Amino acid sequence: MFRREQTRPVKVGPLTIGGGAPVIIESMTNTDTADLAATLAQITELKQAGCELVRVAVPNQRAVAVLPDLIKQSALPVVADIHFNHRFALGAIRAGVVKLRINPGNIGGEERLAEVVSLAGEKQVPIRIGVNAGSLEQRLLDKYGKATPEAMLESAMDHIRMAEKHGFYDLVISLKASSVPLTVAANRLFAKESRYPLHLGVTEAGSSFSGTVYSAVGIGALLLSGLGDTIRISLTAPPVEEIRVAKAILAAAEIRRFGPRVISCPTCGRCQISLIELVKELEQRVAEITEPLTLAVMGCVVNGPGEAREADLGIAGGKNQGLIFCAGEVVRKVPQDRLIDEFMSFLYEYLNSKADFGVSQK
Ligand code: SF4
Repeated sequence: MFRREQTRPVKVGPLTIGGGAPVIIESMTNTDTADLAATLAQITELKQAGCELVRVAVPNQRAVAVLPDLIKQSALPVVADIHFNHRFALGAIRAGVVKLRINPGNIGGEERLAEVVSLAGEKQVPIRIGVNAGSLEQRLLDKYGKATPEAMLESAMDHIRMAEKHGFYDLVISLKASSVPLTVAANRLFAKESRYPLHLGVTEAGSSFSGTVYSAVGIGALLLSGLGDTIRISLTAPPVEEIRVAKAILAAAEIRRFGPRVISCPTCGRCQISLIELVKELEQRVAEITEPLTLAVMGCVVNGPGEAREADLGIAGGKNQGLIFCAGEVVRKVPQDRLIDEFMSFLYEYLNSKADFGVSQK
């Protein structure tokens, strides 16, 4: 299996996908691309949330026409998502997109594909070939009976061959399905056969809740087996939510860290403090911190500090009060109403002392 660090590195504007580069967080705008102001505003919001590469749909000439201005003013490198019309793809490359997402099977035949690939090669614009279980070629559905990992692999390989035939190798591949086991199996099969970097995603994953769960299981399983170079979470929700989930999945897989992780106990009959509210407030208050700390919030002193010994700092609840602890040792006792404020000031003291000792804060 070709693990992340062994995949072929592909330059995507200022970023690199594959070859062991950090796993990139992508998203896609859901504004009318031709509405420049709305699309730029959403891209800025995505960037502020931590998105690193943004894709826009280019379904018509209006969208192609706006691309030069969009790219010039965008807070993030722009990828164009194009189906059916090779002229839109040519226009997007000329406008300066950093990557194209196309499906070589629906771009209008071999000659038109050759035109797109040749211009992409000339302008050094990589192409993502997106294989989707829901839109596999009829020939493969007839051959395999339904969308199977083997059918998805064959589709990807056919499309790769089409590009390679024209001397084009700057490819990123995705194999997506709404079924998690099918997505995972197709990507694993592909990684046995090819060194092209993988864009991971579970497609049509659903609303915030179910999309998060399906994406976490599917993408998480692949990341933990060493696969995946860039990820996109698909949620039927505002795109900015996709970024929060992407960061949480990468952090949970211990692939990238984005600021503090708050661990907290599930509470039980020993808990005499409003732990759910405390955790919620703490998560909001530490959202701006970039230092990769582990903060523990435990419901009681019986097991709290001990259970969270691995944490940098923590809180253990008592009766309407809480203990602040550091590396398993209690350092302060504070009434519940001042607990988060006191904890935050202790946290900043802690960060400053780390900085004084030469530990960098990102
Ligand atoms: S830390 Fe205390 S309150 Fe939380 S689950 Fe453990 S025993 Fe219960």
